[in-house]
Amino acid sequence: MCIFCSIASHKIPSTLVYEDEKYIVLNDIHPKSRIHMLLIPKKHIESISHMSNEDQETIGWLFLIARNLGHEMQIPGYRLQFNVGKEGGQEVMHVHLHFLAD
Ligand code: AMP
Ligand code: ZN
Repeated sequence: MCIFCSIASHKIPSTLVYEDEKYIVLNDIHPKSRIHMLLIPKKHIESISHMSNEDQETIGWLFLIARNLGHEMQIPGYRLQFNVGKEGGQEVMHVHLHFLAD
């Protein structure tokens, strides 16, 4: 089981910023900005490159969670980033959206 699946299923304790039935959000352990959160579907999809057509909604909701966090935390602007594949800088092979703000 991968690290994010372990956190999502509470096998590894972690402080979650947000959780619902299908998603978790956590603060990045090595933040690259003042705010650096990871938005993670509980479904194990390796990367954007591995998503199937039926994963469209699962991935699409990540943007709505980002929008909600931006509103709730009153963050006026932020960056959203997927690293895709080793060559794209992806280290954890479970899809996640980086939410970064200064
Ligand atoms: P990526 O390079 O896109 O795969 O991003 C993986 C991110 O996960 C990196 O920014 C790591 O700092 C972060 N990370 C790895 N393990 C953990 C963890 N247990 N809790 C929080 N963040 C983590
Ligand atoms: Zn996983």
